[in-house]
Amino acid sequence: MAEQQRYTYAGVLHIHTTHSDGTGSLTDVLDAAHESRLDWIIITDHDTRAASPAEGWHNDLLVLVGHEVTPTQSHFLALDVAEVINREQPTQAFIDETYAKGGFGVMAHPDDHLADRTLGVHPWSDWEINRASSGAPIGIEIWNLMADWRSNRDSLPRPEQFTRPEPTLKGPTANVLAWWDQLNVQGQRTFALGGLDAHAFHIHHAGERYVVFPYFWLFQTLTNYVLLDAPLNRDWTTASRQVYRALQQGQSYFVNRLYGPLPQSPFTAQQASHTAHIGDTLALADGPITLRGELSEPALADTELRLIGNGDGLHTGTGSLHYTPTAPGTYRLEGRRTGQPWLYTNPIYITA
Ligand SMILES: [Zn+2]
Ligand SMILES: [Zn+2]
Repeated sequence: MAEQQRYTYAGVLHIHTTHSDGTGSLTDVLDAAHESRLDWIIITDHDTRAASPAEGWHNDLLVLVGHEVTPTQSHFLALDVAEVINREQPTQAFIDETYAKGGFGVMAHPDDHLADRTLGVHPWSDWEINRASSGAPIGIEIWNLMADWRSNRDSLPRPEQFTRPEPTLKGPTANVLAWWDQLNVQGQRTFALGGLDAHAFHIHHAGERYVVFPYFWLFQTLTNYVLLDAPLNRDWTTASRQVYRALQQGQSYFVNRLYGPLPQSPFTAQQASHTAHIGDTLALADGPITLRGELSEPALADTELRLIGNGDGLHTGTGSLHYTPTAPGTYRLEGRRTGQPWLYTNPIYITA
């Protein structure tokens, strides 16, 4: 079998504009995305697709528009669906309606929590609901940047928590990672991604005005890379299917770019002369497999890598690691840089 090259495209998602409660116009968002050298973005205003006339190519930036279905709890990013899904129905019903209309979705900030309970929190209320009734997987936003910041700052934030939020970011919670792993281990294949929840809120605090956080700053943080079999098509509807399909198939990984640039092919599996990529499935019956975490970029050589198999930490390495799995299951890679959470890949799946 001829080896197929993969093409990597960087994008961010979960973005609010002035069409809902974001403070940036579409132009502001597009300008920030261009300056951030992104290939694609997905705008998800609350319960509206008002930004949809902007869908398409804007020079080298692919703009896609979904929406966030926002009942009081259990917010849901409805993607690749042309209609707004009614939020006034039970969680399973709006998931099923999204899929019935040809779309798919992602559970937004499922572990949203705050030390200060006087502020509103919007977690995914029932973790037993995690797929469409048809069995089709829905995704988990394992790291939501704004929910992370809100959860870990002081209830009355110190000024530096507005101006230098990095130390306040802790990454995906242990609960979310355990849940995601458990679903995959049970055979309920579930993809993960990192979302921003970009609003660029204007907040007045102790006599100062802060922007929490500017689109341009956020667009340098959690960035998802989709792995494609072919370059993104210049026909935007074809390109949108490429991006959506890769996300749904778990052919993606994300990093917090604050701590290091895009790694190319950080996680692969080798079986004889065949190289498998994130989201692929291999069978042990077809011969020995080597899982490879490999950051070939010199600037990333000091990254602490950790291989997780069936929910357990199996192996670590600095800049690279190799592991020969002997059991079927779900294998994924994490990376930390300067002690901070940085890289999360979707799994490579290994069957008997
Ligand atoms: Zn939300
Ligand atoms: Zn949101």
